[in-house]
Amino acid sequence: MNLVRLSPVLLSALIMAAHFYRTGNVGLAVVSTSAPLILFMKRRWVAYVIPGLLLLGAMVWINTTFAFIHIRQALGMPWMRLAVILGTVTLLTALSALVFSRKKLAGTYSRAMETAKPSAAAFFLTGFILTTVQFKVKLPLLLLERFIPGGGWIEIFFLAVYAAFITEKMLDRTQSAKWRRRVWALFSVVFFGQLVLGLAGMEQFLMTGKLHLPIPAMIIAGPLFRWETSIMLFLFAGAVVLIGPAWCSYLCYIGSWDDAASRKRRKPKKLPAWRKPVQIAMFILITLTAVGLRLAGVSMTVATFMGLLFGLAGVGIMVIWSRKSGAMTHCTTWCPIGVLVVWIGKISPFRIRINDSCNDCGICRLSCRYDALNLTDIKKRKPGISCTLCGDCIGSCKDSSIEYRFLGMKAEHAGILFIVLAVSLHTVFLGLGRI
Ligand code: SF4
Ligand code: SF4
Repeated sequence: MNLVRLSPVLLSALIMAAHFYRTGNVGLAVVSTSAPLILFMKRRWVAYVIPGLLLLGAMVWINTTFAFIHIRQALGMPWMRLAVILGTVTLLTALSALVFSRKKLAGTYSRAMETAKPSAAAFFLTGFILTTVQFKVKLPLLLLERFIPGGGWIEIFFLAVYAAFITEKMLDRTQSAKWRRRVWALFSVVFFGQLVLGLAGMEQFLMTGKLHLPIPAMIIAGPLFRWETSIMLFLFAGAVVLIGPAWCSYLCYIGSWDDAASRKRRKPKKLPAWRKPVQIAMFILITLTAVGLRLAGVSMTVATFMGLLFGLAGVGIMVIWSRKSGAMTHCTTWCPIGVLVVWIGKISPFRIRINDSCNDCGICRLSCRYDALNLTDIKKRKPGISCTLCGDCIGSCKDSSIEYRFLGMKAEHAGILFIVLAVSLHTVFLGLGRI
């Protein structure tokens, strides 16, 4: 019965697919035929995403109609019949978006009702960012585009679906810490998996075809040494402006290693007070060394070797110190990017705060691996400077006393906004992040 109700949607998708196929865009033809597959998911966000896609499809038809009319007019050919046919197709596509307003059909898509709008927002935000990259960047950055022309569109669609699904999971405060670690680890596996394939000679898996060191410190040290910008530097800066220090807890490919190492110990210990000045000193040391090596004319081979030693030392710190302390010592003491993001990250208005319902029980302290939530911080009702907005402490508080804040926004809305942005950026990095 639902198939009959959904028939305008399916018909519109098929006509759209035929149009893209005819214009030679096989990728978008595949997306148009496979988009209706998400109708099987029965989640409420599907009832927002499909109408949104249909409206985008109607805009494509409007554009196509005017383009064809102009061509016919230029050739002195009749165009009225064409305008009527394409106008009807445009109308069918736009009106089929309305099928979800029918009560019976809306009732079918009733799973995850509360998170539907944020999930749909993450779908379209992810799609928008990746579509901009697909259109604007000359070098194909989406992996599938490097293998099949037009494949980038297929990848964008499935990444957007992934973003919608993960947003749904992350908005469940009892599950968010678990899902954050899962998706973060997935990003790291995909990132380093591509590096291994790149090292095996498959250049498509490297960002520009050239090999760089997969060490976060190189995001600043590399451009300073080579005196040129890099795609990774732009991705990094954009992410830090939007979600501040959450770069460290959602987007860093090495951070999830430190997290995994720290979880070998159940309860995190408080790190010594000297870790803060040490991390600032590491930042100064790395930037001065990169500039110094450039001015001294040191070869790329020697600089790479030094970078490699720095990275290996960092892994050693995770294995020895993070495992023993239960805190992420690599990220909070050794990595210069760690200190950079917590300072520059203040540009982003997102904050974690503890509200007045807190009874100072201190349970949340045990969920913080960034050494940002000791008893003094709890009494001050805000985490320490090393907080990366990971949000793990939020679900640990039985009294819901910890929350995201964003300017004057209600805490609940600030939390939703943060998750939509963080998940969308995570998904964009999953699609584009490589060495
Ligand atoms: S778990 Fe909640 S109530 Fe307990 S100290 Fe932390 S914020 Fe306060
Ligand atoms: S204070 Fe909370 S949000 Fe901040 S790093 Fe610690 S667990 Fe994450």
